[in-house]
Amino acid sequence: MNVETKVKTTVDLVIYNAAETITCVGEGMTEIGVIENAWIAIKDDKIVGVGPEEEITNKFDLEKSVSINATGKVVAPGFVDCHTHLVFNGSRVEEYAAKLSGNVDENLEELGITTGPNRTIELTRHASEEELFQQAKKRMLSMLDYGITTIESKSGYGLTTESEIKILEVGRRLGKETPVDVLNTFLGAHGIPNGMSKSEYIEILIKEMIPEVGERKLAEFCDAWCDEGYFTAEESKQILQAGLQYGMKSKLHADAYSYIGGSDLAVEMNMVSVDHLNFTPVEVMEKLAKSEVTGVLMPALDFAVGHKQPFEARRMLDLGMNIALATDLCPACYTESMQFVINLACRLYKFTVEEAIKAATFGGARALDLDDRGIIQTGKLADLQIWDIPTYKHIAYELGTNIVETVIKDGKVVVSR
Ligand SMILES: [Zn+2]
Repeated sequence: MNVETKVKTTVDLVIYNAAETITCVGEGMTEIGVIENAWIAIKDDKIVGVGPEEEITNKFDLEKSVSINATGKVVAPGFVDCHTHLVFNGSRVEEYAAKLSGNVDENLEELGITTGPNRTIELTRHASEEELFQQAKKRMLSMLDYGITTIESKSGYGLTTESEIKILEVGRRLGKETPVDVLNTFLGAHGIPNGMSKSEYIEILIKEMIPEVGERKLAEFCDAWCDEGYFTAEESKQILQAGLQYGMKSKLHADAYSYIGGSDLAVEMNMVSVDHLNFTPVEVMEKLAKSEVTGVLMPALDFAVGHKQPFEARRMLDLGMNIALATDLCPACYTESMQFVINLACRLYKFTVEEAIKAATFGGARALDLDDRGIIQTGKLADLQIWDIPTYKHIAYELGTNIVETVIKDGKVVVSR
């Protein structure tokens, strides 16, 4: 008898029998594609198969692969944190603690506590690249423990060519020397440096800083702070257009403390993302919903600063906007946990659990213009996390628990708790 033997593909890693696999594949923000008892086969850095046991064992040779038993657990894509200010020196803990007991900026000045971004800029300018690297690395490895496998990192605490480049170089080094993928955003337009007029600074941004960052290929994105007291929509447009000339895609901090047309500009320029959106009018949400632009919402920042105008997430989701959730890790919002962000999004902003998970994975990837991650599907990067919970809904229910047991980045186990 002539038995045809099919040669099976060998794989490096197999995750088997997960109670639920959250693929995040599907239409809209609510469809998260839950598969029960799935097996996932991984070769090199890619997912090569997702399906029932029989399908995977028939197709692949699992003999020599490492296997992870996920019985009773949940497998999800790694979180993609699309908005952080990861690289900075020191902290603003004194300011935060003093404000908790009712102090405002003026009292703090009298107490000798320097406040706001200027404090961080001062500290960051004077730190060495190595100091910045070590501090950011510690934060980033903690974020990896919380399931974050891709991070966007903004400059913007230097505001001089030299110090902005130093921050971006640290971002590049973090990407090389840790398992996490780091995408850099040039945010020289985070504020206006002391002792300089805004027009002088814009000139430096456009003629000196952006060309330098661009030629050194130090950033994937260019960003600006469009708000009252910062940059107007017209100024933001000039800055972002200069970035585009050097291949940096546009992002924007908009409508965080006032509405001056930032979100409209995001639609007009078809930006990758527009972030904050506390003061965005409904008419602009409707325009955003018809566009490809992703709205990035950051519940932890609003929580940390006690924001007076909560963003209207429910309305944005109901209108059908592309939404991402991000930590906004920065000296004013010190969280390394996307799970905490999900807790807040569900409880305070009426996200469904499904929407929150999708916004923190698929949504984050879309806000970084990445289509190779954020979902569990054959051909995508094997960036995965295993949660030690019986069903995915526990992620919203367990407040402050780190539910992550295992993190896999590029097909390798990088966290095992
Ligand atoms: Zn920000």
